[in-house]
Amino acid sequence: MQADGNCDHYETSRYYAESVNDCTGETEGEWKTEERSLMVDIDLHRYQCSRCKLIGYYSGAAKAYYEEGKRTPGVRGLE
Ligand SMILES: [Zn+2]
Repeated sequence: MQADGNCDHYETSRYYAESVNDCTGETEGEWKTEERSLMVDIDLHRYQCSRCKLIGYYSGAAKAYYEEGKRTPGVRGLE
């Protein structure tokens, strides 16, 4: 478990992938690393890290709306 301050909003997992070689018929395997973003959309204009709960915004207008209550006419959800 990482402290909130040094969360990189990514999750790294290692898994062993096996496949059958068509030529030899033998099973081959290798370790693979997968990096997955933990940022998930929470509504139209915001996303949040599921580990550290940091909220990010897709635009300056969205940031102003949620942090300062400033509305932006013409932008759906922020009017
Ligand atoms: Zn995070």
